[in-house]
Amino acid sequence: MRLLTWLIFLAYFGGAGAEPGKFWHIADLHLDPDYKVSKDPFQVCPSAGSQPVPNAGPWGDYLCDSPWALINSSIYAMKEINPEPDFILWTGDNTPHVPDKKLGEAAVLEIVERLTKLIREVFPDTNVYAALGNHDFHPKNQFPVGSNKIYNQIAELWKPWLSNESIALFKKGAFYSEKLPGPSRSGRIVVLNTNLYYTSNALTADMADPGQQFQWLEDVLTNASKAGDMVYIVGHVPPGFFEKTENKAWFWKGFNEKYLKVVRKHHRVIAGQFFGHHHTDSFRMLYDDAGAPISAMFITPGVTPWKTTLPGVVNGANNPAIRVFEYDQATLSLKDMVTYFVNLSQANALGKPRWELEYRLTEAFGVPDASARSMEAVLDHIAGDQGALQRYYAYNSVSYDAGICDEACSTQHVCAMRQVDFNAYTACLYASGADPMPQFLLLLLLAALLVLCTLAL
Ligand SMILES: [Zn+2]
Ligand SMILES: [Zn+2]
Repeated sequence: MRLLTWLIFLAYFGGAGAEPGKFWHIADLHLDPDYKVSKDPFQVCPSAGSQPVPNAGPWGDYLCDSPWALINSSIYAMKEINPEPDFILWTGDNTPHVPDKKLGEAAVLEIVERLTKLIREVFPDTNVYAALGNHDFHPKNQFPVGSNKIYNQIAELWKPWLSNESIALFKKGAFYSEKLPGPSRSGRIVVLNTNLYYTSNALTADMADPGQQFQWLEDVLTNASKAGDMVYIVGHVPPGFFEKTENKAWFWKGFNEKYLKVVRKHHRVIAGQFFGHHHTDSFRMLYDDAGAPISAMFITPGVTPWKTTLPGVVNGANNPAIRVFEYDQATLSLKDMVTYFVNLSQANALGKPRWELEYRLTEAFGVPDASARSMEAVLDHIAGDQGALQRYYAYNSVSYDAGICDEACSTQHVCAMRQVDFNAYTACLYASGADPMPQFLLLLLLAALLVLCTLAL
């Protein structure tokens, strides 16, 4: 009997361990300051472009970027759900999807300032590790490698969250690293400016190492290894491919390779990678040469519901999301990932947004934690089980798209999640029977063959 009591005691306390630490990750807020509920469907929001927006509600519309009310509600929802996070990751894209000439440098800075003030007002004592998104510059995407007004002014805005060293670094290249506070921890956050690797950035395409960020990252990770620190890598534009279409990568191939090389080399000190930019909920796996999972990269869905206009994407809107990670404060190992969301059409119908739990990773996919090994198991479920695939697919758009993910859809998503490397991704599509060659090229080839055959005859 005594043995049984001991076993129960051990199972309860030994298994439960210490309470995990928690941090928030928010991405792609995309404020549209001119959003208004108008009867004229062409007057609702500049971010809808030339599309009419009928029946817009006060909390936003799937064709538009976020009204202030939605963003305000999302930050206060964070405070209500988890008021004392250890820190917040805020991975950029704060301005609306409108042409550069409708925005300008002053408007970009004003929006970043408004959102910074809101986050500081709601979480005055919380460290925020913020990254710039490709929309947080003027002209958009054109991030330079040297000092400029935007880096300077944003470094000043984010001063309360940054060390002097980080402020100086940010002013030069908009990347930095911070040691996580707390006596028992040996954690480090590395915030990257991956906009320097983005194919839409014309300023950095020909450079070998824009801003010497890769060299800097190598040094930070080497030093972390020597110091026994574990690291979270944070950024906006992720490497790899977009899962909602085929062959859409964000980094130039050379930069994608360099990024993967650094992460593979230093994976032992990397406890997680966190990105935005997709507005969707997905993740990426990285493997060593033997095919063992070494790192998982989490793509956190956006607050903006904006339906993407990216060619090849069908119905690419999402419900607004905010996300908590639970982690071990000593080792930074990820224990769980909990996503909260608001059903936007319901919020407009009810006249009030109701932020609710969408899913908890461990429960939804039956894994013990959010480690690379567990994420590999999640991916195996998604690739092999229709139920898990459909669950993942609904979460991918934050429970907006309840459609069926057919075979082509499954291939697209699974290849993007499994293969961050360009060649491996193409091989994955090909192996899955997808057509890696554009159809017109195939037709051209057939026509040439036909001509040759005719000539031979
Ligand atoms: Zn975005
Ligand atoms: Zn972006």
